[in-house]
Amino acid sequence: MSIVTIERKVLEKNDELALQNREVFQRHGLFVVNIVSSPGSGKTSILEQTLEHLKNKLHIAVIEGDVQTDFDAQRVAKFNVPVVQIVTNGGCHLDAKLVQDALASINLDGIKLLIIENVGNLVCPANYDLGENVKVVVASTTEGDDKPLKYPTMFRNASALLINKIDLLPYINCNLTELKTNALKINPKLKVFETSCTTKQGIAEWCTWLEKQV
Ligand code: MG
Ligand code: ZN
Repeated sequence: MSIVTIERKVLEKNDELALQNREVFQRHGLFVVNIVSSPGSGKTSILEQTLEHLKNKLHIAVIEGDVQTDFDAQRVAKFNVPVVQIVTNGGCHLDAKLVQDALASINLDGIKLLIIENVGNLVCPANYDLGENVKVVVASTTEGDDKPLKYPTMFRNASALLINKIDLLPYINCNLTELKTNALKINPKLKVFETSCTTKQGIAEWCTWLEKQV
């Protein structure tokens, strides 16, 4: 079927550009994290906490992907780190080309960690390699415990899972053990953190892990 062929060609082209990005990242000695989640799970809040924690230890730059607005980039800019906003104008994921274009606006010299906040979507960001070293998936307790089973590709391709809004657990219908079991069933190697940007639970552990990867 022709649609399948087009999809494959688009992904092949993307993989080619992702490889180019990866070469640029390697040349600069840069570690790159692609943060993915559904909308509203707290990617930007996690990013803020991460910057707060690590900005004095590591030189960090950020690429923000959003369908519309630069609200998230404005939040990140408060931490005085280089940040570029990509507005996809309806596009539901970042691709390697968009990241390549964004890289032109960042001076990568001296940067050790580049964090890319993807568009809120658990479907196609799983298939679009940006050239990153690791994908990190944020799943909040408010989304329930079945996300890993519904979106297995994303959890299979991720290196770490942040179970966010962990402080809300007593008030909602989410079985934490079930959520973890489901995630590890899909990907036994997944490193799991329980985080809250309100109580700061798990933030230090997550940042220590991230710093070690860099
Ligand atoms: Mg965001
Ligand atoms: Zn998409």
